[in-house]
Amino acid sequence: MSLNKDCEPEAVTNFREYLRIPTVHPDVDYSKCVEFLLRQAQSLNLPSNIYYMAPGKPIVVITWVGQKPELTSILLNSHMDVVPIYPEYWTFDPFSAHKDEKGNIYARGAQDMKCVGIQYLETIRRYLKNKLVFDRTIHISFVPDEETGGDLGMKIFVNSPEFAALNVGFALDEGLASADDSFSLYYGERTLWHLVVKCTGSPGHGSLLHESTAGEKLQYIINKFMNWREGEKFRLKNSNLKIGDVTSINLTMLNGGCQINVVPPELSVSFDIRLSIELNTEAIEKLIKKWCEEAGEGVTFEFKEKMAFIEPTKINEENPWWITFKEECDKMKLKINKYIFPGATDSRYIRQIGIPALGFSPINNTPILLHDHNEFLNEKTFLDGIDIYYNIIKSLASV
Ligand SMILES: [Zn+2]
Repeated sequence: MSLNKDCEPEAVTNFREYLRIPTVHPDVDYSKCVEFLLRQAQSLNLPSNIYYMAPGKPIVVITWVGQKPELTSILLNSHMDVVPIYPEYWTFDPFSAHKDEKGNIYARGAQDMKCVGIQYLETIRRYLKNKLVFDRTIHISFVPDEETGGDLGMKIFVNSPEFAALNVGFALDEGLASADDSFSLYYGERTLWHLVVKCTGSPGHGSLLHESTAGEKLQYIINKFMNWREGEKFRLKNSNLKIGDVTSINLTMLNGGCQINVVPPELSVSFDIRLSIELNTEAIEKLIKKWCEEAGEGVTFEFKEKMAFIEPTKINEENPWWITFKEECDKMKLKINKYIFPGATDSRYIRQIGIPALGFSPINNTPILLHDHNEFLNEKTFLDGIDIYYNIIKSLASV
């Protein structure tokens, strides 16, 4: 392990330097970040490419060509962007990468997910130093705008000829920290729907009792969705199911009305829904349509976001990548818990085009602080993560 002048491992210094680049939403400026990554590629003596799927949204790919480049490659993916901060709630400047006496490094992106990007690079650096060679090509990708849905990043990239040319056979992407000594592995994601239900009805004076008002219809709709929600809450509480296994339904917006004594002609309600992978999405859509009909005339719904069902990555003997991943974890005696990811990551776009992808951030014994105040990662956990990737990626590159 090489140490810099402050006796800090070079990997940690690189990590902290990356954290100090404020690739923060909104309107992320990626230029400094790209500069940093190109310098990393140079220091590894590896070629890199920058692709633009949209102006100002660079995708940096650093490539280590394998001994048998005709084989499908491994993609090690991470996103460069981070979510905004509320500086007043932070003990240290979130872009200072302050390290306390325990070795905790505080910064936005410490867990989500600049750690992983640097861990990939440092793993490759170690292979090169140890003069290892593998059959498969390894691509390390750094993508923009994951935190705003990947619309101008991975979503377009996976369908581009540039991505096809990478010939990816398997991908690793982000997971979540785990508060105990186990590690969390994610093999699929729920189906995201953003839905708006519009209720129209008879308007009039707020002193009367009109029939068929927008409010009555809205109440019917809200009751249906909230009863569904209650059922899922019950299932979650009274079983071993985790949040990724059930459907989450949240009422997130209410719109309509202009004055308190005027019965409005229209009211609308918005729901954020994450459908369990067990559900038949078509059947659910039919059910919602039925509820709208039952609510009365003039009730319609519209999708603001309608993700199609995406097949989870197989975690059985059919998937040699999973077998290899698991064997290496077993050798290291890592406790791995397998989950469906509760939110959404860029892995869904990779899975959507039929490439198996596992979400894994090698972070245990750490509170889950992604998107939270005082996000941190301990230096030792970070370095242990490189040891873990070292074994896993070595084997994956030889599958
Ligand atoms: Zn993330």
